[in-house]
Amino acid sequence: MNLKEIKIGDLTGYSFECGCGKTHSVDIKKISIGNGIYKELPGILEPFKQKKVFIVADTHTYGIYGEKVYNSLLETGFSVAVHVYETKGHLIPNEEAIGRLVVEIGSDTGMLIAVGSGTINDISRIISSRMGIPYIIIGTAPSMDGYASTVSPLIINGFKKTYEAVYPYAILGDMEIIKAAPKEMICAGFGDILGKLTALSDWRLSRKINNEYYCETSVELVEVAINKCIDNARGIAAREEQAIAYLMEALILSGVVMGMVGNSRPASGSEHHLSHYWEIDALAKGIEHPLHGNSVGVGTVIISRMYEKVKEKYSIDFTLPAPDFVVEQLKNAGCIYDPKTLGIEKEVFRQSVIHAKEIRPRYTVLQLAQDLGILEQAADELAELYY
Ligand SMILES: [Zn+2]
Ligand SMILES: [Zn+2]
Repeated sequence: MNLKEIKIGDLTGYSFECGCGKTHSVDIKKISIGNGIYKELPGILEPFKQKKVFIVADTHTYGIYGEKVYNSLLETGFSVAVHVYETKGHLIPNEEAIGRLVVEIGSDTGMLIAVGSGTINDISRIISSRMGIPYIIIGTAPSMDGYASTVSPLIINGFKKTYEAVYPYAILGDMEIIKAAPKEMICAGFGDILGKLTALSDWRLSRKINNEYYCETSVELVEVAINKCIDNARGIAAREEQAIAYLMEALILSGVVMGMVGNSRPASGSEHHLSHYWEIDALAKGIEHPLHGNSVGVGTVIISRMYEKVKEKYSIDFTLPAPDFVVEQLKNAGCIYDPKTLGIEKEVFRQSVIHAKEIRPRYTVLQLAQDLGILEQAADELAELYY
């Protein structure tokens, strides 16, 4: 397999024995990003034609694409039902939203089609898993890397919790819709991809220090995808079709690779822990917080600075992302690159650098900084740099 040439669609159904000792398989039937993608649905759905197809959308995504899917399936002889969430603000993936879908979906349903991005995907995935009905996600924005994931982060009893679920049957995306996504969503996707730079550094670090399981092939797959996005950062800001397509493919690939290795190491490290800390803090205070990937982008800048500080005390034998390079990429793509502009207060920021490592028990540069006895001082210095 030539990793540089590989197309995202080629990975579906792929299974191979890897040098890392694992057999990686991708249990998604089809991944397709392009134009007029709804025309592919009748073919994909042919084996399910005896049963009903159920479309899940919200008022926005139904308007931009769901209705088109609905009409084209009716015209091609499918029996179709639909649930459109009425959303004034953000749709929350909670008991109410999930319960509503459970009662709306008929027992004669053979396939769910989710039209949307983060929340619609998370709700449909948990329903798919629990009701045993496969689902297709038609992604409407290049905003996060959860399309190919197997878990659903939900808000249950007021708290965010991640639940095991299933891969989608297929992942589709129509470029006409994806490239017209709001800027904050495009920046969120780009930030989530840049975050892989420090996530991979943390994985390498833990391999070095803890001899943790590591897969070179997966790392290379992710790196090839990140580099395509970085090389096209300005094109992403300008919504050039090819550049946005690279971003969408990288986001899907990131989820595929997590599934391949069986954990989120290839996609999430201490930059995500910072982002989660800020998100939890905002949730607790009842204030708005930016879309996930926007915080991850800023977290990547902060963690790359932390690596610079750690490097003075500890020898690191792999290439690290330079902080200025990360900032430049975020600037090129027209996205936020500092915690203050992101809306994080100084003391919250300082505390986050010290405590983000407690978000989950995973070895990262923040733990190394703690072990070296430089974490608190680094947190002070970083806070002074930005505020
Ligand atoms: Zn992420
Ligand atoms: Zn491997």
